[in-house]
Amino acid sequence: MNAPTSQAVLAPTVKLLIGGKFVESKTTQWRDVVNPATQEVLARVPFATPEEIDAAVASAQEAFKTWKKTAIGARARIFLKYQQLIRENMAELAAILTAEQGKTLPDAEGDVFRGLEVVEHAASIGNLQLGELANNVAGGVDTYTLLQPLGVCAGITPFNFPAMIPLWMFPMAIATGNTFVLKPSEQDPMVTMRLVELALEAGIPPGVLNVIHGGEAAVNAICDHKDIKAISFVGSTKVGTHVYNRASLNGKRVQCMMGAKNHAIVMPDANKEQTLNALAGAAFGAAGQRCMALSVVVLVGESQKWIPELVAKAKTLKVSAGVEKGTDVGPVVSCAAKDRVQGLIERGIADGATLELDGRNPSVPGYEKGNFVGPTVFSGVKPGMSIYDQEIFGPVLCLSAAADIDEAIEFINSNPNGNGTAIFTQSGAAARKFQEEIDVGQVGINVPIPVPVPLFSFSGSRASKLGDLGPYGKQVIMFYTQTKTVTARWFDDSTVSQGVNTTISLK
Ligand code: NAD
Repeated sequence: MNAPTSQAVLAPTVKLLIGGKFVESKTTQWRDVVNPATQEVLARVPFATPEEIDAAVASAQEAFKTWKKTAIGARARIFLKYQQLIRENMAELAAILTAEQGKTLPDAEGDVFRGLEVVEHAASIGNLQLGELANNVAGGVDTYTLLQPLGVCAGITPFNFPAMIPLWMFPMAIATGNTFVLKPSEQDPMVTMRLVELALEAGIPPGVLNVIHGGEAAVNAICDHKDIKAISFVGSTKVGTHVYNRASLNGKRVQCMMGAKNHAIVMPDANKEQTLNALAGAAFGAAGQRCMALSVVVLVGESQKWIPELVAKAKTLKVSAGVEKGTDVGPVVSCAAKDRVQGLIERGIADGATLELDGRNPSVPGYEKGNFVGPTVFSGVKPGMSIYDQEIFGPVLCLSAAADIDEAIEFINSNPNGNGTAIFTQSGAAARKFQEEIDVGQVGINVPIPVPVPLFSFSGSRASKLGDLGPYGKQVIMFYTQTKTVTARWFDDSTVSQGVNTTISLK
């Protein structure tokens, strides 16, 4: 927690949402929400007390009694209204997001839009939460399944997508008939709160959606709370692993989407201009603070000669505040994040990688206090170097080399992470080989950031994920429901008795 500044005393407070009411926390622990381009204190966020967390869960528990019985059409219509409200308020949502998180305004709209797609998906719940029926599994016997909501579910979200990731969670949980307690990132909770206000305006009843704020203690309280049935977590591997272990031991259903190190392979036959554009956009967009950011490029054969052109492209990107027109790379989220990224750049040099482009301490007129790091490119990067082994989460691209596609695939498969990967090629055979042999959950073919739309599920794998089922798509319906299988036989007076059946068989 940072100490409140004099600016902070004047800043508005972020509220809790408990039982349908936005309330002031009674805590004594607060943290400033800071504009990363200017260091202006935008708000103060509370670290909720244990009593407030209990009250949020209790209100969700109470609301579940009626919400679980709400007609599926009534649930769907709330999300139809909600998607309309998000569209109408898009510019305001993006502005709040840019102010507290730093990404550019167009990218902030993208953040909201990727969440909006999940809200649209939630509006089609009537087609998604369907059971199965098998007629006559034995004489006069039918078997069918019900997908029933679990109860109170919780979501814990990271700073880098403060609109999209909360929208991955509560709309689908609530549309399936659950009630929800959300704990947004304490670094940028304001756009999340505006989205929550709009959700209530769309008709989500009191207690069905609740919000608490905080850090480690709040997360541990969620993991331990006896009335919470399922937890969705998105964030770093360290915290996600802790959440998974702690909450699983408490008998909860848990899904954790975690850290990454996403590689792309560039084949020498790839379309050079399209590929270099895609690499620069995916490595440096959002200042590299995407879990699907491209952080390692494996250049195969002749494509290794493209490094100067890639560096030239990176140099053309404009580093400035997200509100400035034409900005490509905004600030990283905090001073601590900037120090960490710059420290890793120093480690990369010390470990023997070649610094092709140094983005440290760029000049950003008008925003001298901002947490800026410009596009940075290293070549000759190898496993064992800190810049390869750690998730940098900044605008730093690592280049490695391979003689052929087999060596490149082997290189990627040796990395423990499995969030995203891509190949750039004009060969269908190379693309198909990559798709079949790569051990990563989300694969792009000439697409640098292959985040699936909600008709599918987000499907990171290996060290990037714990739990079997991903957010949104079909998988999340299974995550947020319990399958109940009913086997039924009906007799009428004309049914002939078959006597006592002492076997396990259905007759
Ligand atoms: P983080 O792990 O620091 O924080 C995530 C959440 O955990 C926050 O709500 C935070 O309050 C809480 N938290 C922080 N420290 C904690 C602790 N010690 N104990 C319990 N809870 C704690 O992550 P972040 O820095 O906000 O987000 C960036 C990370 O998230 C990156 O590693 C990125 O790859 C990952 N991420 C993954 C995906 C994905 O889908 N795989 C998506 C977005 C972000």
